[in-house]
Amino acid sequence: MAAAFRLDDRPALLGGAPVRRDPFPSWPVFGEPEEQALVGTLRSGRWYRGNGENVRRFEEAYARATGARRCLATCNGTSALFVCLNALDVQPGDEVIIPPYTFIATVNVVLRQFALPVFVDTDPETFQMDASKLEAAITERTRAIMPVHLGGNVCDMDRILAIARARNIPVIEDACQAHMAEWKNRKVGTLGAAGCFSFQASKNLNSGEGGAVLTDDDSLYERAYAFHNNGSGLKAIGTNFVYASTGHNLRLTEFQAALLLQQMSRLDAQVRTRAANGAYLTSLLGQIPGIRPARQYAGCTLNAYHLYMFRYDPAEFSGLSRELFLKALRAEGIPAAGGYSPLNTQPFLKNTLGSRGYRRIFPEKILKEWPERTACPANDRLCTEAVWLTQNMLLGPRSDMDSIAVAIERIRRHAADLARQASA
Ligand SMILES: *Cc1c(COP(=O)(O)O)cnc(C)c1O
Repeated sequence: MAAAFRLDDRPALLGGAPVRRDPFPSWPVFGEPEEQALVGTLRSGRWYRGNGENVRRFEEAYARATGARRCLATCNGTSALFVCLNALDVQPGDEVIIPPYTFIATVNVVLRQFALPVFVDTDPETFQMDASKLEAAITERTRAIMPVHLGGNVCDMDRILAIARARNIPVIEDACQAHMAEWKNRKVGTLGAAGCFSFQASKNLNSGEGGAVLTDDDSLYERAYAFHNNGSGLKAIGTNFVYASTGHNLRLTEFQAALLLQQMSRLDAQVRTRAANGAYLTSLLGQIPGIRPARQYAGCTLNAYHLYMFRYDPAEFSGLSRELFLKALRAEGIPAAGGYSPLNTQPFLKNTLGSRGYRRIFPEKILKEWPERTACPANDRLCTEAVWLTQNMLLGPRSDMDSIAVAIERIRRHAADLARQASA
């Protein structure tokens, strides 16, 4: 640990000098190449995929980078998931299995189909779907399994795929937080029937908004293409407004693709920096009592670290609450957050499942049994213990990681004082 940091100094929240005054690296990272690409697209006057080249070029580049046969760009990650559920014909009355520890879009797209979201509890060690509880959640109505590679860490894909294959249920990987992450040296998003990505501003590959679907299945790709293009498929282009299927306009613009092509040239170096800093930070934080960094399954050969996640145990910090721990950490110049609230018990879900449409579609018994069936006690607990650092914090020098570890250890040494101060 860098000698410049003094662990016994008073915490910033109690009037001491903060461990850090400098901000962490800002996000997004861009420069001249992005500017030229955007201006070039502007001046070309070709702003949509129908008359430009950028979207197609990006799709080819992203497919090549991930090892997928096919890539379809979409207007955001939510629409990538939406496209896949439709390409796989998920309909009202079906069930879709998802984790409760995820961004709300994962469940919203299931509700948009008037399907039933079935939650599988979280493995608190990894923050991922607990694959040992997957089998029990499957019924004859299960139409898709949608694991999420949360925070850029990777789900136990061997177990999930084995269970899905045995039942012939397609797996849609929500890889919206896991660009370039790997399972046994294969990129996530290429392991299931389809994989979905987001290029929203906070994500590790960013064009403000944007998304993509990866698949090796040509027929799924063609259905996905048609759905994202108002139902008009590749072969239908140029025909007289006659459509064989329904769809939406979920296309990416040429501006976003121009930006993504440039951002992709920065991606590999950023991935390597996050992975090295993430592993180093784990080696430091793993030594601090009461801090348990998210573990990786043995098959995870590359963590994309969209988030750096750990569990906080107040018992090792003189009972200091997580909220005060976060406040003390922020005072030291380390922005940290508490992460998700449990998704499966939120009011919007209860209201949606109680709506006229759902009551018409689903037998009363299924809706009545749903809350108990999708209870996730391990996840409820994880949501009270989690601490997140964002991906940009891993983009700087190794000494940034030292500063995080020092701030946490300083808070631990003064935790009793901090707790006392708060109650005074
Ligand atoms: C960001 C995100 C999405 C949605 O992506 P958008 O581009 O914001 O629509 C879906 N799932 C997960 C896990 C995400 O993090």
